[in-house]
Amino acid sequence: MSTKLVADDAPGTGGNDRSREAVVRDGLSVASSVAETTPPLVQAPESKMRKRVYANVIAQFDKAAERMRLDPDIAKILRTTQNDVVVHFPVKMADGHIEMFTGYRIQHNNALGPFKGGLRYHPQVNRDEVRALAAWMTWKSALVGIPFGGAKGGLQLDPSKYSPTELEHITRRFAFALGDTIGAEFDIPAPDVNTSAQIMAWILDTHLSTLPPHERQRNIHVVTGKPVAAGGSLGRDKATGQGVVFTIQKWAEDHGVSLDGATFIVQGFGNVGSWASRLLADLGAKLIAVEDVTGVIHNEHGLDPNDLLEYVEIHGGVFEYPGGRPGDHTEFLRTKADIFIPAALENQITAETAQWLKVKLVAEGANGPTDPDGDAILQERGIDVIPDILCNSGGVIVSYFEWLQNKRSEFWDLEEVDCKLRKTITHAYERVRDEAKELDVDWRTAAYVIALARIEKAYKERGIFP
Ligand code: NAD
Repeated sequence: MSTKLVADDAPGTGGNDRSREAVVRDGLSVASSVAETTPPLVQAPESKMRKRVYANVIAQFDKAAERMRLDPDIAKILRTTQNDVVVHFPVKMADGHIEMFTGYRIQHNNALGPFKGGLRYHPQVNRDEVRALAAWMTWKSALVGIPFGGAKGGLQLDPSKYSPTELEHITRRFAFALGDTIGAEFDIPAPDVNTSAQIMAWILDTHLSTLPPHERQRNIHVVTGKPVAAGGSLGRDKATGQGVVFTIQKWAEDHGVSLDGATFIVQGFGNVGSWASRLLADLGAKLIAVEDVTGVIHNEHGLDPNDLLEYVEIHGGVFEYPGGRPGDHTEFLRTKADIFIPAALENQITAETAQWLKVKLVAEGANGPTDPDGDAILQERGIDVIPDILCNSGGVIVSYFEWLQNKRSEFWDLEEVDCKLRKTITHAYERVRDEAKELDVDWRTAAYVIALARIEKAYKERGIFP
């Protein structure tokens, strides 16, 4: 094994003179990281062209930190990420040629427990985005009171361009390249955009294969969101959508709104969007428009989410679904409905699009769907927001349950998982609602205040080494 310094070519740090340490094993770069030296907002020129998501995190953070008078020393720690790991690795494709891939694992903070967060496969994955997603995981775990920190990872690729076998090879080489950056008691990945239980199973199998045989069985909690037969939890598949629906139910109860007959629109019809749609439809709500990467469909009489899902599974998206009429992005966002569930990507509700919405509630299934300008407009217009770190926390809550079941060699039934999820997320909802009222702030700021107070307390009690 040798160690060498390599130049950082990751988006987000190009143009500065920082170098990073890469550990090279058998000629394979398995991990590179820059810890304390990473500045929060330095961007490569090409990243400036894209919307900067980490800047949104900092704006949200600063607003809450100021309101609660967060200790400025603690704020310094939390404004940046702890470890930014970038790996470049080769994979042999089906026709024998080699392709190089770039992957990220960014560990924002572990003051409250092991790093935790999903892995995203998307052509636009970049370091700025993954850092933001990692920070949101820290706040989310702290808010709902589970003993995890925050991390996120991603691979820059378009999964639709690869065969299942190639995706398996890419995933396994990514897991191998990450090496001991992840670990059952250190950093635990889970599914996110374009990653599935199957992908978690390949990561699990690859990671375990790198451990001595006697270590393998007791490390199956290195990933969550696994297939049930491979150690996954019942209810994890639907957990994020289920959590979204539990929070909407609480909101409806608080506002005297009946969900039976309420209308809703959904952006993104993958894991989160499709589950939230099906579970909300089970309560009598009517899905009247859906947008995904392939297009938009409307039906004011109601779309059947189960039938739509079958169609999407066959055709890869909602485009040309026969049960609805086609529409465009602007028309979708202007649809009059009671509830909008963004369940796709970041920065969808902006200064421009927040003006278009004709809904009473935005329930953020996605991470970071609303930017700070959009947030201000929603507030001005009196549109309620259940913020992402609360609304979509069902995924990480049930991931925690899966992790616990693996550690204790237990297997909980679905009723137990659902019941514990409802209790945890409802409690967090009530805390955010009450804090917002008490401090007279928006719900996102209230959620941040609760999360940051928990982390601040941990730092104050433990102190800073040395
Ligand atoms: P997924 O890959 O299953 O689905 C993503 C959906 O978004 C697809 O329907 C896709 O077509 C759509 N989409 C992608 N780009 C789009 C675009 N430009 N416009 C419109 N639609 C677009 O992913 P997922 O797991 O459902 O994740 C969705 C969101 O929820 C992400 O923000 C993710 O971070 C967040 N989230 C996921 C989980 C989880 O457990 N999977 C947990 C918490 C938060």
